[in-house]
Amino acid sequence: MATPRGRVTPATARRAGVRLIRFLYTDNGGVTRGKATHVESLASRITDGIGLTVAMQAMNMLAQLQPVEGLGPVGEIRLKPDPRTFTVLPYAPHAAAMTTDMCTLDGAPWDVCPRSFLKRQIAACARAGFGVRAAFECEFTLAIRRGDGTFAPLDESLCFSTLGMTTAAPVMDEIVAALEAQGIQVEQYYPELGHGQQELSIRHAAALEAADRQVLYRETVRGVAYRHGLFASLAPKPFLDQAGNGGHIHFSLWDSAGRRSLMHDPRGRYGVSALGYHFIAGVLEHLPALLALTCPTVNSYRRLQPHFWSSAFTAWGPDNREAAIRAPSTFPSDRAGSTNAELKASDASSNPYLALGGLLAAGLDGVTRALKLGEPVLVDPGTLSDTERAARGIQRYPTTLGAALDNLEKDRALMGALGAPLARAYLAVKHSEAEAFAREDAVFETKHHFWKF
Ligand code: GLU
Ligand code: MG
Repeated sequence: MATPRGRVTPATARRAGVRLIRFLYTDNGGVTRGKATHVESLASRITDGIGLTVAMQAMNMLAQLQPVEGLGPVGEIRLKPDPRTFTVLPYAPHAAAMTTDMCTLDGAPWDVCPRSFLKRQIAACARAGFGVRAAFECEFTLAIRRGDGTFAPLDESLCFSTLGMTTAAPVMDEIVAALEAQGIQVEQYYPELGHGQQELSIRHAAALEAADRQVLYRETVRGVAYRHGLFASLAPKPFLDQAGNGGHIHFSLWDSAGRRSLMHDPRGRYGVSALGYHFIAGVLEHLPALLALTCPTVNSYRRLQPHFWSSAFTAWGPDNREAAIRAPSTFPSDRAGSTNAELKASDASSNPYLALGGLLAAGLDGVTRALKLGEPVLVDPGTLSDTERAARGIQRYPTTLGAALDNLEKDRALMGALGAPLARAYLAVKHSEAEAFAREDAVFETKHHFWKF
């Protein structure tokens, strides 16, 4: 079954052999959920959407509904699909999916909708004269489930080891094929440092598509692994004694047509333009609060430790893998096109629309205020003394989700971008997760994050 080209119609979906089409959304807890329509009703469902209770945006990842004004048992929204995102799902029989916006009954974007939040930030950047392209670069862990319900890594192979490649080859090959079939171009693959850990990167895309792709990527990796009798986890720290899973965000700035890089300047330091530096400075300044969107689970803060290459300090540097933002070296075949920045303080337990929207809002604030970026850090910032770090303006990240949420609440630019209704719901959901996991142990925490992300 191949995905039909162009905008989907019931006829093309039928011809592709599809019966059920999932209308996907990702909630404030970062979990992707959906409802499916039968293909016979597809035309009307594209126009009308599928109904959803407003309460789902007050639901946390432990299925505990939070008391949020206006998000109770009364009230309904519509999941309206973006037909350009129609894709046949290679890992589920006769199934397809589209990503959706949450709309009010009169068809307007709902102010608690994460995808609409990202669209607003894209529009704000466009008004400031630039577009953003991005890619989530994910690591994930392949595991088997033991009889007692606990998970064990698929192998104990070494970083970049060919033995690890061969062990995982059947499932990885099928994941790559499934991404290709969905029009998602794969860039690189290798076994990572952790036992059973893999890294599979995909090509960058315009911001909205990049977030949509992250949803499909997570679905695909887990869906294909399951067909091989395996479990794939993109949780930030699925095994406490192993390297964590990053979901680094690579980003670059472009002209409105997406043809000319505005991030690149051959005369700029490390080939990065002044605009690029203002944007990066904004991301770095807001990072202690932005983390609440890019590293938004309790499990995220187990990953963000010094010396694990996940980053733990608000620093930036060229090819510095302990810095929050790495300016990666570029490639001779396309210096301009390969100029980008990488936010390491990001993982795949995020809602990609909120994470990327937050990154855009933070970067745009840096551009608007023409913020100056401090000096690059050329060493592991974790090896500097507290005094040295303070002198360079480098801060340790908040070490808990609760602390990051408190920073978010105080961050006027990010709170303003989210808008009160979305911010209120998000903070309620996330605070409730912080409190619920604080009452439990690490086994409970890893188990719940393992299979939900
Ligand atoms: N696993 C590391 C992380 O948690 C990233 C390692 C690397 O690719 O540099 O982000
Ligand atoms: Mg990696």
